[in-house]
Amino acid sequence: MTFQLSALAELPSAISLEARERVFLISDLHLWQDRPQTFERFRACVERARREADALVILGDLFEYWAGDDDLDASAIAPVIATLRAAADAGLLITFMHGNRDFLAGASFARAARLRMLADPCLIQVGRQRLLASHGDALCTDDLEYQRFRAQVRDPQWQTRFLAQPLAQRHAIIADLRARSEDRKARAPQAIMDVNDQAVADWFERYRVDLLVHGHTHRPGRHVSGQGTRWVLPDWEYDETPQRGGGLIVDAKTVTPFDA
Ligand code: MN
Repeated sequence: MTFQLSALAELPSAISLEARERVFLISDLHLWQDRPQTFERFRACVERARREADALVILGDLFEYWAGDDDLDASAIAPVIATLRAAADAGLLITFMHGNRDFLAGASFARAARLRMLADPCLIQVGRQRLLASHGDALCTDDLEYQRFRAQVRDPQWQTRFLAQPLAQRHAIIADLRARSEDRKARAPQAIMDVNDQAVADWFERYRVDLLVHGHTHRPGRHVSGQGTRWVLPDWEYDETPQRGGGLIVDAKTVTPFDA
């Protein structure tokens, strides 16, 4: 498979769904080869979305990490791509937004999985409901150290330099980054790892929506303010306890959580 960087440039910032007008939203599955039960739940969820919905919207961190599109055959990745491709071929629209772990997923991944890449944030119109969808890390503005890191790794020049290194070296760098991130998560104050209320308020205002859906924080819930309703998607874990996962079903009028 040829490796292309181009998909990381311009992504669509809005999608509009008509048809049956039912959408499944999921995020933070962190799929990897050491999580076979989580993968099975994912596969069942994709199949359910194919039967019941028009579209599956994946809001980032589908994978535990992404070293580059020349890694598509990795044992953790190939079955996920095959699952998505089969559902897409059967008529399900699949869309994907980058998370903070799989932000290097590019055009070759999108082609192989037959999915559409979305910008972050992205407006999604489902019937009369208009919602703003995001991975969510951009809203965690209190974590200055993380926002500096995010700006660095989202820089096209940084990405080009990183992707020019041999795959084995990229795996090693990512392993080191992940270890440091785990260490930091254990030490950093919990409050700065959540979204900033003013950042949320700014988005409600700027995008003129009253519904916001995001993941990333692993703090699933529903938060109602004067401006609108913010839903936070759960992360997925079915290989360790406590088991958790699922997402939201959005149709023309309602938002309903579901378990995977
Ligand atoms: Mn995340």
